[in-house]
Amino acid sequence: MFGLEEPCEGGRDLLGGKGTGLAEMKQLGLPVPDAFTITTDACRAYRAAGGQLPAGLEVELDEQLSALEARTGKRFGDSRDPLLLSVRSGAAVSMPGMMDTILNLGLNDEAVGGLAESTANPRFAYDSYRRLIQMYGEVVEGIAARHFEVEVDRLVLEADLVALVHAFKRVFEQRAGFAFPQDPRDQLMRAVRAVFESWDNPRARVYRALNGIPDDLGTAVNVVQMVFGNKGASSGTGVAFTRDPSTGARCAYGEFLLDAQGEDIVAGIRTPEPLERLAVRLPAAHSELLETMRRLELHYRDVQDIEFTIEEERLYLLQTRAAKRTVAAALKTAVDMVEEGLISRAEAVARVDPAQLDQLLHPIIDPEAEVEPAAMGLNASPGAASGRIVFHAVDAEERGKRGEAVILVRTETTPDDIHGLVHARGVLTALGGMTSHAAVVARGMGTPCVSACTALSIDLEAKLATIGGYRLREGDAITIDGSSGRVIVGEAPLVAPRSNPDLETVLTWADDLRRLRVRANADTPDDARKARELGAEGIGLCRTEHMFMAEERLPAMREMILAHDEQERREALERLLPMQQADFEEILEAMTGYPVTIRLLDPPLHEFLPPLEEVTDPRTRARLLQLQERNPMLGLRGCRLGLLYPEIYEMQVRAIVRAARAVRERTGASAEVEVMHPLVGFGEELRRLRELTLRVVAEEGEQECRVGTMIELPRACVCADQIAEHADFCSFGTNDLTQTTLGFSRDDAEEKFLARYLEDGVVERNPFQVLDRDGVGALMRIAVSLGRQARPGLKLGICGEHGGDPTSVRFCHELGLDYVSCSPYRVPLARLAAAHAALAETGVAAAVDGG
Ligand code: ADP
Ligand code: MG
Ligand code: MG
Repeated sequence: MFGLEEPCEGGRDLLGGKGTGLAEMKQLGLPVPDAFTITTDACRAYRAAGGQLPAGLEVELDEQLSALEARTGKRFGDSRDPLLLSVRSGAAVSMPGMMDTILNLGLNDEAVGGLAESTANPRFAYDSYRRLIQMYGEVVEGIAARHFEVEVDRLVLEADLVALVHAFKRVFEQRAGFAFPQDPRDQLMRAVRAVFESWDNPRARVYRALNGIPDDLGTAVNVVQMVFGNKGASSGTGVAFTRDPSTGARCAYGEFLLDAQGEDIVAGIRTPEPLERLAVRLPAAHSELLETMRRLELHYRDVQDIEFTIEEERLYLLQTRAAKRTVAAALKTAVDMVEEGLISRAEAVARVDPAQLDQLLHPIIDPEAEVEPAAMGLNASPGAASGRIVFHAVDAEERGKRGEAVILVRTETTPDDIHGLVHARGVLTALGGMTSHAAVVARGMGTPCVSACTALSIDLEAKLATIGGYRLREGDAITIDGSSGRVIVGEAPLVAPRSNPDLETVLTWADDLRRLRVRANADTPDDARKARELGAEGIGLCRTEHMFMAEERLPAMREMILAHDEQERREALERLLPMQQADFEEILEAMTGYPVTIRLLDPPLHEFLPPLEEVTDPRTRARLLQLQERNPMLGLRGCRLGLLYPEIYEMQVRAIVRAARAVRERTGASAEVEVMHPLVGFGEELRRLRELTLRVVAEEGEQECRVGTMIELPRACVCADQIAEHADFCSFGTNDLTQTTLGFSRDDAEEKFLARYLEDGVVERNPFQVLDRDGVGALMRIAVSLGRQARPGLKLGICGEHGGDPTSVRFCHELGLDYVSCSPYRVPLARLAAAHAALAETGVAAAVDGG
């Protein structure tokens, strides 16, 4: 345990983000209420002991409490002028609103009277007490909020807070089975336990799973002297950002409520006023707040998200943390802060999370389209989304999981809705501001959100929503635009977003930092051009099979496969050749100056054939039957085809060579062609195919051509030295390599058992999305080492889908690969991830956050 000004070596890991922030603000001389922090160690010990407080904790807590009493000059449990405390969760990694906090601890039937008298403000005293009973009831005894809320609805109109306290005590006793505890120390100990326990509540677990936060870190507990925003019109509470967390605009941004306590804002139960209004309401506190925020940003050199309370015009800071922000804001602030001389380019690059770039692909409502909003709300999280209305988080989860587009429509959202938020395309709420936890979490996830839509009312029983003049049922379609706050009935036309100049800037900086090259997987000229536009430095995988699938080509392809002898087959191939060549020409032209790896035909031949039932001709049927395989994935495919039917690969190589020459003759330059043979397991396979390739190249009158293979079989990994002898390059085909290493068929796994495996924790991540380092990764490591031993300088890359996953990119960097290749749209992400990987080596870590 550490008092607010005691040095703590363990830093953030022990004190948590909130505790660290409080201590640092105190050091900066900012007004922070006095406090002490119980470390995450204690929480871990508590959990390890199955919910037992660690030995010595109570003694230490008493010591800290006495010290706090001495410093504040007030006594906890005093019946006339009591020291009141908040007990607040706060992990090392920020999890906004996911765990619990209790305010106003230390009040009881007697002390509330004393407080009323000593402050001469009975309203305030009883308001604080009723808040304590409710929060304590909810957090410690698990009493549902609605039991208290009905009483509020009944009584608040009469503004009789004493009656409300009585009602709340009755609710507490009915639900808990015993009276509200009057002993402050008892309250405190139970609150501490409850905060430890809140580490494991369902929403915190979902949040951690979603954000890849380990389950065993535990939370710290901050015991903080209360300061009061609920003392009337000269008091209030709020949340503010040093810059706009949606757009990154360079001005303070926030919200406040007068005569309120902090939880009113973050729970989104009242819609607060914008920060600018504070300048009118409480001008001195407002300007002090702005000055404080400026200092905090200079100190942390990052956008801060702060919680403040004003008690009778005096400002207090209760929290500061690196602000969660949209990717647009992350990019803009990164670029701005470099310009302002606050951070270096490398830091700016490190500040933008590659995984977040996906958000930039969020559609927007077609600016050309004329849409008539039914209502407006706050633009709480940008992007537009259409979907069917659902009213409950469980429905959003269930229907969203089935792939349905749903919009979660609620009066307010609470952090408990997170499991539904994850599966909804968008969120619309009647209440809650920009800084409610729901809005913060939606922004972090990139889910569009419109909040504080006052024209929305919901009748949950009838499953009806009224939006402006429209009455809508569950299942009706709406569109929300989280960038403008518009709510539209029906499906508005959505289009892809425009390019973002800040992204271009950050990516250029990233390019200067990374070592890995980034290529794209592109099978068509369109994809190739798109990839180039997005910064791809070549093509890592150009599949040729789709070229045979086109309607006008399939007949020739089928003839080729069904041919009765080589002669017939060659004739069919002769017709396919010019078509292939034309495709290659366009692709090579789009990638002038860069390498283009073309993979020869890979899938089993029967994929190109009509289903047996549709064929009547007996000779064709016989041939079809002959081609059928029990397990095509492991059958006659890949380079095995090339060895059994060399004329197919010969045609393809010929088409490639001729295409390159045609482009060169036409434009004076071309891409660097690399011919890649799929599914090689034996050095001898590649030796023969290399010979075939180079023979055709020579026949076409060319000197040389780079020949290589995909590594997608475990055998190829452990015999990579034998294969490398015949390879100018190798590319890890990690889709197949994952299938063949795990013995999982991807489709079967994803349909049948992978979801359960993930839920039950048998595997931590989907190995088809995030490279399985321990298994597949280990094989890759062997292959890299053997391959480069046999052939120093062997060029190595990856072309599975993992090439676009940030953590997998990092692994590829660590393995020393030369390039990653991913789908064109993921190229920017891979460029950034590759820079992060390089930065991690030099010790520039991605920005930490706390809170
Ligand atoms: P969360 O992590 O959910 O934001 P906090 O511990 O930050 O939880 O507290 C919830 C709200 O209560 C915040 O708005 C905070 O500012 C307010 N609060 C917490 N402790 C105090 C205190 N000692 N005095 C006044 N307000 C407090
Ligand atoms: Mg907080
Ligand atoms: Mg493959």
